[in-house]
Amino acid sequence: MNAMPVTTTNSGPLPLPGGSVDLHGAVALLDAASTVTVLCHVNPDADTLGSGLALGLALERRGVAVQVAFGTPADVPASMRSLPGGHLVTPVAQVRRDADLVVTVDCGTAGRLGVLRDRVETAPRSLVIDHHLSNTRFGTDNLIDPESEATAVVLANLFDVWGVEIDAELAHCLYAGLVTDTGSFRWGRPEAHGLAARLLATGIDGTSITRTLLDTHPFGWLPMLSSVLASATLDGDAAQGRGLVYAFVRRADAAHLGPEEVESVIDIVRTTAEAEVAAVFKEVAPEEWTVSLRAKTSVDVSAVATALGGGGHRLAAGYTAHGDTDRIVAALRGALG
Ligand code: AMP
Ligand code: MN
Ligand code: MN
Repeated sequence: MNAMPVTTTNSGPLPLPGGSVDLHGAVALLDAASTVTVLCHVNPDADTLGSGLALGLALERRGVAVQVAFGTPADVPASMRSLPGGHLVTPVAQVRRDADLVVTVDCGTAGRLGVLRDRVETAPRSLVIDHHLSNTRFGTDNLIDPESEATAVVLANLFDVWGVEIDAELAHCLYAGLVTDTGSFRWGRPEAHGLAARLLATGIDGTSITRTLLDTHPFGWLPMLSSVLASATLDGDAAQGRGLVYAFVRRADAAHLGPEEVESVIDIVRTTAEAEVAAVFKEVAPEEWTVSLRAKTSVDVSAVATALGGGGHRLAAGYTAHGDTDRIVAALRGALG
């Protein structure tokens, strides 16, 4: 069990940003609510959606009216459609505005909620559950554990304190977040591996879950990689000589492909031996890019991304960039110092 920071639990009306809440405080908030909205971050990954669905299922079983939602895209990405609890996913326009409690999972800032940000801002009570060190504590109550490899780890600890049995359905959801955010267990504390063992012991098929989430792409992924990786550039002088490698995914490259295909590119680019920092610029509109940053050991890309308007973890972060390719690369190089 991770030690959670314990400071104050807000009980009155709405000071923002809010105070920290421990696992017991979070359970008290969840127990007091009869309608709950669980919000995941835009362009959901398996940690935010797996955590959101696990929490949604736990609440549904307790008789709570619960919705799970994310701002974009309209549909659950193909690789995540076999996660249990998909029936709870609610289209943006139908996300209620009168929930007793809004819970966000895996969101470091309110901006990560996209168009659903207003649901948090107008909620009588909001609980932010997250593992980003850079979390801005935008809820009335904030359960943040930067030691946890995934928000799914925080959820597992919450379920234990809450007395929620982690059965195979919940384990499937949590394993999805855990395997994704540990880079298929390339990193993680002993506790993360211990949790994996516990989840697998419920009978879930970890091999199949991992293949579905991380190792399955349509054939069109291969020519996309060919084109995108051909654009890769190594700038050995950047980041004070530690090196930067970067590539662009243009909209034409990604046409007819899903977000999983685009998101996979950074995991190839970041393997470059000559560069401490890797970046993939993903075109979402003319001169608008979402950017994935990764570092190996010595550069804090969370600070770099935060300086550029985004956020994340020390070794994995992101932000949105505007401008042509020269301009966005220059801005990144400048922020890297
Ligand atoms: P990604 O490259 O999209 O996998 O994101 C890596 C990490 O950076 C994740 O922990 C994200 O939560 C975080 N991140 C990505 N984009 C943003 C953004 N625009 N604002 C804040 N955090 C971000
Ligand atoms: Mn995430
Ligand atoms: Mn996460």
